[in-house]
Amino acid sequence: MSVIAPTNQLIDRFGRRITYVRLSVTDRCDLRCVYCMCEDMTFLPREQLLTLEEMARLGKAFVDLGVHKIRITGGEPLVRRNVLKLFRDLGQLEGLRDLTLTTNGTQLARYAKELKEAGVTRINISLDTLDADRFHKLTRLGDINKVLAGIDAALEAGFQRIKLNAVVLKNRNHDEVVDLVNFAHERGMDISFIEEMPLGVIGDHDRAEAYYSSDEILRDLLREMDLYAVEDNTGGPSHYFRRIGGDYRVGFISPHSHNFCDTCNRVRVTAEGRLLLCLGQEHSMDLRRVLRANPTDDERVRAALIESMDIKPEGHEFNLEAPQPMIFRHMNTTGG
Ligand code: SAM
Ligand code: SF4
Repeated sequence: MSVIAPTNQLIDRFGRRITYVRLSVTDRCDLRCVYCMCEDMTFLPREQLLTLEEMARLGKAFVDLGVHKIRITGGEPLVRRNVLKLFRDLGQLEGLRDLTLTTNGTQLARYAKELKEAGVTRINISLDTLDADRFHKLTRLGDINKVLAGIDAALEAGFQRIKLNAVVLKNRNHDEVVDLVNFAHERGMDISFIEEMPLGVIGDHDRAEAYYSSDEILRDLLREMDLYAVEDNTGGPSHYFRRIGGDYRVGFISPHSHNFCDTCNRVRVTAEGRLLLCLGQEHSMDLRRVLRANPTDDERVRAALIESMDIKPEGHEFNLEAPQPMIFRHMNTTGG
């Protein structure tokens, strides 16, 4: 008996259903984190970006096809002018259960309350260190006090959940993992540790030398605290642990040591409207062209999204020892 896939959903050749979209609203940023960007970045000309209206239209097409989680990311999403309008538009989509944001936190003191009012449910804030000098070095530009004020504002605004994200680099911040967990949990936040991914030329360090695995982080944490694995699934790639008696989680995003492709439920859209079917591969579709060629025909946009499922690859091939065909995209262009 042949099974006919429903046409109003996004299901790829491997039977994975896409319910999660990460939408990058800009490749620009007010920081230059050493693992994400090189010092001297060239950004896209503004006219090449999707407009906020086009992004809202795309968001609706995805939700019509069963996507229930959209994460707004970048670059730094909060540096895009008038971005709150996009949050407000997406926040009104019926069927969208989770509207989330990944931010470096520098502008949150200003925007947290309005983001909550617009319908943002959860926020991820990136913070790799608690030390002001280290923060400045890791971000090449940043003032940690702005981020700390942003975290306070987000906590005050009352989102369902706030999670810190920390990229861990050996000999740069690996000795802070216990302090970061304590900082997050004492304030009522989850935290995830991320293994650095080899995206783009960064010119700062050798990624293989800086590699600090999730297993090493877990080992360091277990020396100081009791953690047990939990099955919590937030729709993302994190594996979670909890502290005995604790309310908050420690997550691990481990593209090297624990490949998560078999359960992949997501796609990414770059700020120029390129649909990326896999973080670590180049398979893509030009959605800006589709949107602009069909300014009023949403059916054509949905059809293109369904068609794209035929080119979603089975998985990525990150390998620090023998680099795979080079991925030239930086994380800020990819939409982290
Ligand atoms: N600017 C926002 C921020 O920093 O949260 C959103 C975009 S940023 C690209 C999203 C996430 O990707 C951040 O948590 C950042 O630390 C992480 N990231 C950036 N480059 C990375 C890389 N090469 N490997 C792993 N994570 C990376
Ligand atoms: Fe900017 Fe985020 Fe990349 Fe850091 S990780 S440079 S904050 S986009």
